[in-house]
Amino acid sequence: MLLILKSESTDQDHKRIMERVQRAGGSAELHTPKESVIVINGCPPSLVDEIGSLPGVASVRRNADGQWLTSREKQPEDTVVEIRGCRIGGTSPPALMAGPCAVESRDQLFQIAEHVKEAGANFLRGGAFKPRTSPYSFQGLGEAGLELLCEVRDRFDLRIVTELRDVSAIDLFLKHKIDMVQIGARNMQNYEMLRLAGQSGLPVLLKRNPACGISEWLQAAEYILLEGNSQVVLCERGVTAARGSQTRYLLDLAAVPIVKEMSHLPVIVDPSHASGDRRWVPALAHAAIAAGASGLLVEVHHAAEQALCDGPQSISPTTLKELVATLESHAYTVKRSSVWAPGNLRLIESRS
Ligand code: PEP
Ligand code: MN
Repeated sequence: MLLILKSESTDQDHKRIMERVQRAGGSAELHTPKESVIVINGCPPSLVDEIGSLPGVASVRRNADGQWLTSREKQPEDTVVEIRGCRIGGTSPPALMAGPCAVESRDQLFQIAEHVKEAGANFLRGGAFKPRTSPYSFQGLGEAGLELLCEVRDRFDLRIVTELRDVSAIDLFLKHKIDMVQIGARNMQNYEMLRLAGQSGLPVLLKRNPACGISEWLQAAEYILLEGNSQVVLCERGVTAARGSQTRYLLDLAAVPIVKEMSHLPVIVDPSHASGDRRWVPALAHAAIAAGASGLLVEVHHAAEQALCDGPQSISPTTLKELVATLESHAYTVKRSSVWAPGNLRLIESRS
């Protein structure tokens, strides 16, 4: 149960509410994401009305569907996540995150980073800790990979986004001042990780689990916001595809306008994992931007046949540059209206 508190509620009001819940055998936790809320567990249903009428309480969400802080109802205006001058969401042009699936070596990362920078990407994305289905597959370089990412950040003035695979590594992310923490599809429902990422205060890129609906994804984001961290960007990366389908996952493009209606958080699209095949990546990238995505996450490799991870879906540096050029030529990269609606896209205006 979620208690939404009045903005003028006092510490004494909070104390009174929490004590009342505790006397009834429940537990209550105060969170202060922006305005305060109290999360209540184990409170007898008979007490709900009484608690709702205590001083300082604005409303009670009894069967809380888990989406309050992330909802448009709570915050009608778009959240814009700003990372070292790059704004994601709202009217900002789409952000581009690009790089290899995994950081493999210094030489590999520097070669790719140079191309990514030349293409005009805002972020270099590469995994130092790779979650792999097989324990025999390349697991990433670990902290050495983070160190390489930091070197690249300084050398090319790129922002860094990289995946947190285990909660134990969060201190390394803080120590190396990683610009943005990726929570991968597998960890979307790792609630301890979500809370920890929230507490870290670092901007978070939250990928969607391919088996989860949009509400479950937003509820995962809610865990992060509840810890006082609203710097969250959602990433659609494809849902479970039908047996025998040609793509690795099925890109849920409808998720883009649906999320934009339900939530103020920015949503970007990863066409690489969605397709699993570099041939389909540019078309899906275009479609994502046309659908209103606030950015793209694209896997790029200069020698994809040699890649230790996700080579078949990695586009070449040349294709990345062509992709950026065609997005620009379609005027996809100009400013867009703050609350997205189909008629508001500049692209549509420029064609009419
Ligand atoms: C990745 O981004 O390289 C990755 C492992 O993606 P996902 O978590 O979406 O499977
Ligand atoms: Mn990958």
